Amino acid sequence: MKSKAETYIDGAREIITCDSMRSDALGRIPNGIIAIANGDILAAGPPEEVAKTADLSNARRIDAGGKIVAPGFVDCHTHLVFGRSRAEEYALKMTKSVREIEAMGIETGIPASIRMTREENEESLFNDALDRIGRMLRYGTTTVESKSGYGIRLEDELKQLRVNSRLDLDQPVDVVSTFLGAHDFPPEIDRNNPKDRKAYIRELTEKMIPRVTEEKLAEFCDIYCDTGYYTREEAHKILRAGIDHGLLPRIHTDAYANVGGSTLAAELPAVSADHLNYTSKTEMHLLAEAGVVGVVLPALDFAVAHPDPFNARAMLEAGMTLALGTNINPGNWTESMQMVMQLACRNHGMSPEEAMLAATTGAAKAIRREDRIGRLAKGYSADIQIWDLPSFEDSIYRIGNNAVCMVIKNGTVVFQI
Ligand SMILES: [Zn+2]
Repeated sequence: MKSKAETYIDGAREIITCDSMRSDALGRIPNGIIAIANGDILAAGPPEEVAKTADLSNARRIDAGGKIVAPGFVDCHTHLVFGRSRAEEYALKMTKSVREIEAMGIETGIPASIRMTREENEESLFNDALDRIGRMLRYGTTTVESKSGYGIRLEDELKQLRVNSRLDLDQPVDVVSTFLGAHDFPPEIDRNNPKDRKAYIRELTEKMIPRVTEEKLAEFCDIYCDTGYYTREEAHKILRAGIDHGLLPRIHTDAYANVGGSTLAAELPAVSADHLNYTSKTEMHLLAEAGVVGVVLPALDFAVAHPDPFNARAMLEAGMTLALGTNINPGNWTESMQMVMQLACRNHGMSPEEAMLAATTGAAKAIRREDRIGRLAKGYSADIQIWDLPSFEDSIYRIGNNAVCMVIKNGTVVFQI
């Protein structure tokens, strides 16, 4: 018996399925068809293959118009919810050092965003994030992970996480929420005083994490384990508390120094380890063996002009699964996963195929949704984008371009030009 399709897409020059079951890396299907019912993919393949399992007779047709059809992007690492912007700081950074900027009386970095985010109410945070996520959708992103981490005290962390929940309900892009109360230490404490550090870590493990899970506001617990931030031992304690309350661990680490965060990620094991500029080859092998996804952030390395850009080639050679994210935040404002792919290829040695997989199936794995999103195959969510490009390679070649002319979320057209 054939399953009845409600919608089908045909007329594609090529479907990039990102389905590893097919012969080439991207699972390309020239002139393919996708049949959809109940928001999921019934079948994706050459017309004669799809016709065997899907009944298209009463289905609505979407004409891909000779264009390229691909899975919606999964943006697996973002700080989407934040107060105001740091455009002034970023502009000054082009010609001045942080010390020179601070001497002008301008607050910089995460502490500046903590203050700005605390000052905004939930409504204004929501409206700003809604604006950004709308543009992310128009760049082809259909699932976004979003972290807290600019509150760094209970009420303001909850405020950010509630915005995540509202965003998830109020617009088409799925929002996956992560608690990052350990993004930094509260500005009102002395981070060099061990007693103060301990007190905030106790607040995190005994009050904030239980409250976040009680209110079902997050799926993941994340931490910034790096020089100047949380030590390996502190990170272990906090992620452990998260695990005990049902939050899956992720970790920002090795961005500015190696303080042992990658080996911690491999031991736990964490779902993902993110940044990885100073990760050793031995650690890359440990992460690969432990199945920890390496989330790499080319737009961050670009925005801070990182002296040691992450080495994607070495990580891939060690056997790691890589994922890409925009890392959108007030210091690295990128909404486009297409741009992130372009940077990943040109600056970090990824092939266009590797970048595409990292922006879809790899990123889905970094948020534990690899069975539902990131590829165009039977049983996957019909999260699809259509690119007005002559070939897949043009997505890397046309720098800064937005190729997206249609986005379909759960089988419904949610954006079209
Ligand atoms: Zn981050």
